[in-house]
Amino acid sequence: MNLGTLYIVATPIGNLSDISERAIQILKEVDLIAVEDTRHSGKLLQYIGISTPMLALHEHNENKKVQNIVDKLSAGTNIALISDAGTPLISDPGYHLVKGALEADISVSPVPGPSALIAALSVSGLPSDAFIFEGFLPNKSSGRLKKLETLAKESRTLIFYEAPHRIVACVQDMLEVFGAQRVAVIARELTKTFETIKNDSLENLLAWVKADTNQQRGEFVVLVQGQEKDKTVVDSEAEFILNTLMQELPLKQASQLAAKITGIKKNTLYQIGLKKSNNKNK
Ligand code: SAM
Repeated sequence: MNLGTLYIVATPIGNLSDISERAIQILKEVDLIAVEDTRHSGKLLQYIGISTPMLALHEHNENKKVQNIVDKLSAGTNIALISDAGTPLISDPGYHLVKGALEADISVSPVPGPSALIAALSVSGLPSDAFIFEGFLPNKSSGRLKKLETLAKESRTLIFYEAPHRIVACVQDMLEVFGAQRVAVIARELTKTFETIKNDSLENLLAWVKADTNQQRGEFVVLVQGQEKDKTVVDSEAEFILNTLMQELPLKQASQLAAKITGIKKNTLYQIGLKKSNNKNK
């Protein structure tokens, strides 16, 4: 008996016109569409004139449903998986299904299209040659800070998803860990009416998002420039920061903090500070 195929189909992240011709064709041809939420996806399917039957597959039932869907695929049923928005499996259900299907020798075929992280990266102005996607950060500030600390020295562009009620706290924690001057981007409501893409230092971004509650609404991708690799040039701004901190703090702490703010190695700043205090004491 012929096995069915599992298609992983990307759908729009806001603007319904972003659905591809091939996505429409596959969604029409398959026997069944696995969706996160039948009501939500029902609207999209209605918009593109598709009446293929749906089956619910969400994060709470995915494990239980996998065997049932794999059995259908094994019996020759062609199935498409879509999520509420963008590419399935990207901070969305589907991983267990794809794994289960592959283990049963079912062919799994992508129908690529929108994903918020790629859309945001493509317009961010941040280095796009190497990046890491972390999905959603932990809900609580303590967990979020812990996670961000592990990424503080990462040189690749960092990409996160964030919810509207956490956007201010998230940027605040990023400022604390990455320093006020690290460049970041808030990409909000991409492809929708209130699309906003703001690229600035974390310090300025925080002030901007705090000052306007409209900027705290909708869906967000937050991107942070990676730490510059081995930044060794101590420019006048870095020297000013170090000098100012040395007036208030012991050298060790001053160079530690200055390293966080400027991205220059702690030891480089420590040595400069040491020379300065030696000269002063002569
Ligand atoms: N699978 C989706 C994808 O490929 O992008 C992501 C699903 S995840 C559950 C939803 C999150 O993606 C939102 O909370 C937001 O962080 C981000 N997102 C989705 N659509 C977006 C948009 N239009 N603009 C900005 N961020 C968006």
